[in-house]
Amino acid sequence: MSEHTLKIHEIYLSIQGESTFAGLPCVFVRTTGCPLRCRWCDTPQAFSEGERLDVDAIVATVAGYDSTAIVEVTGGEPLMQKNVLPRMTALCDAGRTVLLETCGALDVVPVDPRVHIIMDIKCPDSGEVQRNRWENVAHLRPERDEIKLVLASRDDYVFARDVIRERDLPRHGRVLLSTVFGVLDPADVVAWMLDDHLPARFQLQLHKAIWGAETPGV
Ligand code: SF4
Repeated sequence: MSEHTLKIHEIYLSIQGESTFAGLPCVFVRTTGCPLRCRWCDTPQAFSEGERLDVDAIVATVAGYDSTAIVEVTGGEPLMQKNVLPRMTALCDAGRTVLLETCGALDVVPVDPRVHIIMDIKCPDSGEVQRNRWENVAHLRPERDEIKLVLASRDDYVFARDVIRERDLPRHGRVLLSTVFGVLDPADVVAWMLDDHLPARFQLQLHKAIWGAETPGV
């Protein structure tokens, strides 16, 4: 891999659908490739489809959209490509608010400290729970980073509740719970959270509520 390229699935302007940034205009930079295969993955097209782009062209494409928008680097799994690290730094240097969506299986330590890390913790029904890199949690910053758990069942909820408590996740980042679209009723999860007094934020995937689950590029 040339040090001047990244394999990119798509770059587009939309609104941020998740996290505490939900609802804000956002340029998405979706990289190609992921080491995981979550059973409910909603972006399998990013496993391999994409083209190798010059990093300067990527930064120029992002700059060509709404210059006030936040920028999210997502995937696939962006940290599979080491060249993504200096690109995120360049975007921060340019004054952009940069979010990184990462699967939680790769080391987050090299990420520029100005980047807002939104890190997954995989639950059992994903089929990838054994890939959680728990040592990442200690490197997250509660004032800047977020921890996301996607639930597909009551068992996933119980797993999430227990790790939130046992690992004191709110001390490391804002904790977000969401459901696999169309698989688990959000009303059930909210009821369980309230019953358990769980210190977490429930979120719906805004983009799917607006455009539906099957619309690509939103
Ligand atoms: S980590 Fe994300 S992109 Fe990779 S398989 Fe899981 S849901 Fe899909």
